[in-house]
Amino acid sequence: MSASHPKDAAAVILLRHDTNQTNPVVFWVKRSTKLAFLGGYHAFPGGQLESGDAGIIVANCDDQERAAMINCAARELFEEVGVLLARGAETLTAGQRASLFDDLESGRMTWTEMLTHYGLQLDAGDFTFAGRWVTPPFAPRRFDTWFFLAHCPAKQEPHVTADSELESGEWIQAREAYGRWQRSEIIVVPPVLHGMKSLAGGLNENLVERFLSVPEAHREPNRRMEFHPNFICFPVRTPTKPPATHTNCYLIYSAKEILIVDPGSPYEEEQQALAACIDQLLAEGRAAREIVLTHVHPDHIAGVNVLNDHLASKHGGRIPVAAHRLTAESSKGQFPVDRFIEDDQILTLDGVPEIRLRTLFTPGHARGHLCFYDERTGALLSGDNIVGFGSVLIDPTDGNMRDYLNSLERMRALPNLSVLFGGHGPPIANPYEKIDEYIEHRRLREELILDAVREGAKTPKEIVARAYTDVSPQAHAMAARAVLAHLEKLEADGCVKCEGETYVASRYPER
Ligand SMILES: [Zn+2]
Repeated sequence: MSASHPKDAAAVILLRHDTNQTNPVVFWVKRSTKLAFLGGYHAFPGGQLESGDAGIIVANCDDQERAAMINCAARELFEEVGVLLARGAETLTAGQRASLFDDLESGRMTWTEMLTHYGLQLDAGDFTFAGRWVTPPFAPRRFDTWFFLAHCPAKQEPHVTADSELESGEWIQAREAYGRWQRSEIIVVPPVLHGMKSLAGGLNENLVERFLSVPEAHREPNRRMEFHPNFICFPVRTPTKPPATHTNCYLIYSAKEILIVDPGSPYEEEQQALAACIDQLLAEGRAAREIVLTHVHPDHIAGVNVLNDHLASKHGGRIPVAAHRLTAESSKGQFPVDRFIEDDQILTLDGVPEIRLRTLFTPGHARGHLCFYDERTGALLSGDNIVGFGSVLIDPTDGNMRDYLNSLERMRALPNLSVLFGGHGPPIANPYEKIDEYIEHRRLREELILDAVREGAKTPKEIVARAYTDVSPQAHAMAARAVLAHLEKLEADGCVKCEGETYVASRYPER
C-alpha cells in the first residue's frame, strides 16, 4: 500500500422521500468491521469511479466530469443499498428492480447496458452537488469524493445488499446522527460529520450553502480532524517509516485545557501549522496543560522544543513535557522531561467534558512506550503499537517482541474499546478485530521463522529468505531486524538456542 494519488469517488447523502424539513431523515450505513480500511466507520453509500461511468449521457448536465461522477453515485447507490435513482425507474416493480440488481451483480449486464435496456435516464436535477473532499495524505488510501444530496424515490426502500462491504444501514434523523457522534458512539470521516451537522440545520434554502461553506468541501486539504469528540487528530509530515509519510499529533481538549500528544515533525511548515491550530484552541479560552509523549522515536518528538519555544514566546511560558522514565533516558539532551508517567496513572483534563486518561505502560515497539485510555468513551491512543497506516517495526534492543505481544494482549483485554488512535494513519473503529489481526500476524510469522530454523536456516538473513517470501527484497534489511526480535523471543521461550551469531532449534523445545 502506498499513499498514492487520490482516486475519484462519489457518495450519496440520501434523504427520505417525504422527510421532515426541520430535522431531515438521512440514510447512513456502517462499514463492515472486517474491512481493513475504515472498518466499522459510519458513512454514506458510495464508492470508486469505474471506467464505464464516463460517457453515459446525463440529462441536464453538459459537464462530462460531473456526468461521470453522477453515474458513479447512482451506480454505487444501487449496488450498495438497492435504490435506483433514475427517471423511468418509477414504472418498475420491486421485483423487477431486484432482477435488474441480479443482472448487474452477476455481470450479465453492465450498468450502462442496464440503463439503456430498460429506458432509464439519469438526471442531474436529482443529484445536488454538496462538496468535494480529498482524503489527506496521512491515509493508506485516498479519495477525491464528490458528495451529492438526493431524495429517495417514493416506493423505494434502501437496504444494505448482500455483496456490499456494509454491515448495516438505517434511516436516521440528522440531529440524532450528530448526537451519536457527540456521545462518542460512532466514528465518521470529516465530510460525513460535516454532512450530519449541515443537515441538522434543516432543509432550508441555504442548505447547500452550508454544505459548501468550509474550504475542505472544495478540495482544500483537511488538517484538523475530529473523528471522535474532543480528540483532534492533526497529522504532521515526518521522515517516518515508509509507506507512511505523516505522524499523528493528537490534541485532546476540554473547555478549559489541552493536552498535546507527540508533536513529531522536524519541518518548519508543519510545526507552524500545528502551532496555529493550538493557538486557535488557546484563543477559545483554554490553557495548554502538558506535552505528552508515547515514545522516543524521532518522528514522535522532533517538534517538542519548537512547540515549547512558540508557547513561551506567544503564550507566556513553556509547558511541562511528560513521558515514561525510559523515554526520558533515551531522549536525554534533546529536551528536559519534567514529569515521569508510570503505568496505571490517571491524567485528568479539567473542564467540560472532564477527560480522564488511564496510562498504560506498553513496551515492545519502544522501551518506554505508553498508551492512553479514555475509559468513558473507550478511545485508546495506541501510539505505534497499533497504527492505521504501515506496519509496526520491532527492532531490538529498543524493541522487544515478547514485550510487544504482552502489550497487545493487554490492550486486547481492555473492556470497552471503541476506537484506536494510532501514531500513523486514520483511527481504527474496529479495535478488537485489528488487535486480533496484529497478534495473529506475529504468531504466523513466528511459526514460519521457527520452521525455517528447524529446516536449517541459521542467521536472520537466511531466515528472511525462507520466511519473508511475501516481502520485497528492499525490505529485507528491516525484516532481518524483525526476525532478530522473533528469535530473541523464541530463545526466551526455549524454542531456539543462540550460538554466537547463529541460531539452532532446541532439541527439547517447550512446544
Ligand atoms: Zn515509533
